[in-house]
Amino acid sequence: MARSSGYDPAPVSIVKTYTWCPTLAWLEANGPRLTLPPASRVERIGLHPLEVWTMLEALGHRGHIVMEAGLEDPVLGLRGKVDYLAEPGSTPGAVVEYKARGLWGGPQGPGMVQAALYTIMAEHVYRARFKGYIVTVEGVYRVNDSHKARALRLLAKTKAALASPEPPEPGHDLSRCRSCIYRRICPYSPG
Ligand code: SF4
Repeated sequence: MARSSGYDPAPVSIVKTYTWCPTLAWLEANGPRLTLPPASRVERIGLHPLEVWTMLEALGHRGHIVMEAGLEDPVLGLRGKVDYLAEPGSTPGAVVEYKARGLWGGPQGPGMVQAALYTIMAEHVYRARFKGYIVTVEGVYRVNDSHKARALRLLAKTKAALASPEPPEPGHDLSRCRSCIYRRICPYSPG
């Protein structure tokens, strides 16, 4: 995760990928660069800022809202862009991730890990208490302390796995490999 030139924060997405498949995270970091298909139109649409503002106000947040807010946290060694961030002020800050297709993997899945890391990063960057939310078509999920603790454990595991010379075992049902772009070169792929 660190280049010889110095500090080089890793993208939050690599921890999200590790949560889905540790082998995939290793291949993304250390394998050949593959081109991903473009994101679907549905994912690009996102939420209208007014919808986010209304939702956050109802949840008790009134700070200025930044879309695609860049966060870089030297404490965690991570960088990323959260979909929406309400700055802290007279009310606590908030980060919001929008998942147009629902919360992939449920509250223990990669999306929650990502949102939990963004919440911790925002707390470090702004030195203030933040709440984290995931908004989906089914409703709103809240980031809690146990999600944050799990995300930090997964970050530590991700860093250890990426530093290894060999890809870690996937540790999941190989049916996930069907849609994986690395399946042709992955040593654990069922083919
Ligand atoms: S092919 Fe399967 S085990 Fe290999 S990286 Fe992809 S999802 Fe993981």
